[in-house]
Amino acid sequence: MALVEFTNSGLYCPSGDFYIDPWKPVNRAIITHAHSDHAYTGSKYYLCHSASLPILKLRLGDITVQTAEWGEIININGVKISLHPAGHIIGSSQIRIEHNNEVWVVSGDYKTENDGISGMFEPVKCNVFISESTFGLPIYNWKPQEEIYRNIRDWILVNQASGKTSVLIAYSLGKAQRVMQCIKEMNVKIFVHGAVWNVHQALQQAGYDLPVVERIIPEISKENFKEQVIIAPPSADGTTWMKRFSSYSIGVCSGWMQVRGNLRRRNADAGFALSDHADWKGLLDAVKATGAGKVFVTHGFQAAFSRYLNENGIEAAEVKTEYGGEEEEQEKASTTKEQEDEINTAGEE
Ligand SMILES: [Zn+2]
Ligand SMILES: [Zn+2]
Repeated sequence: MALVEFTNSGLYCPSGDFYIDPWKPVNRAIITHAHSDHAYTGSKYYLCHSASLPILKLRLGDITVQTAEWGEIININGVKISLHPAGHIIGSSQIRIEHNNEVWVVSGDYKTENDGISGMFEPVKCNVFISESTFGLPIYNWKPQEEIYRNIRDWILVNQASGKTSVLIAYSLGKAQRVMQCIKEMNVKIFVHGAVWNVHQALQQAGYDLPVVERIIPEISKENFKEQVIIAPPSADGTTWMKRFSSYSIGVCSGWMQVRGNLRRRNADAGFALSDHADWKGLLDAVKATGAGKVFVTHGFQAAFSRYLNENGIEAAEVKTEYGGEEEEQEKASTTKEQEDEINTAGEE
């Protein structure tokens, strides 16, 4: 019997009788992080890191939930469970499962660069590692965060000089908080969409020290936005909601902006390849650091990434899951054949 099985409801540990990030209601759910494709409603009991709690409650409502700190050992039916930083968003955790001298680690989503708010990714030794692969192609190699931050700030200054509003498109949980960190020292007012506001409020109430922002409401007159910064989720892009900011420039913050075709497709003025996921090298480094003899690759470019691992002496297999519904993972689904070709060509350069 494997320590973790891949079932129709999600990743299941039969020895402990619990699920990790189940996409159907179950009795016991351990949650890696609060993104909607990893944290579904309807389960009887939840376990998550204490920093995930405010957003989990915001999104799932009144749930029965236990929290754990990093490295704290929780025993469920004789199986030892502990949570370790995944560096993806606030509270995001890798789940370490130990039973009968065997250790498996479920990564959830992860990022190996420290962004200062999501916790520092911790390599955890294990026999079997279950890894995401959102950006598991060699063309995805991120610039250091500081360099991208500088590019965003320079872009805002250029917009200001020409009297324009800067609209930054960023996912409401994770990316939006990083973008705020990036611009908080600038001489601008930060206005946010309601979705970003809700997350901001929940985190502030939980004690997080976040920059001051103002919620965008119809009563705010147009002149107030001039030369200032707007943070809005992708769902607002291209809607009439944006008209009030005119004239404005749109900058999209997403790992997919590494590929030029995506910038054209999004009809954005600027693209910033700022991601909450590990790039190709980050994924490889993370896999190697676990020392795992077997790797299961989930949501993303699982075929390409697991093939590469196999060719390089690490036994790997791809696994189908239901993850990939929120934030950057979603955009992979809309990657067309044309962009796949562009990705392939760019990889050969
Ligand atoms: Zn995520
Ligand atoms: Zn994910």
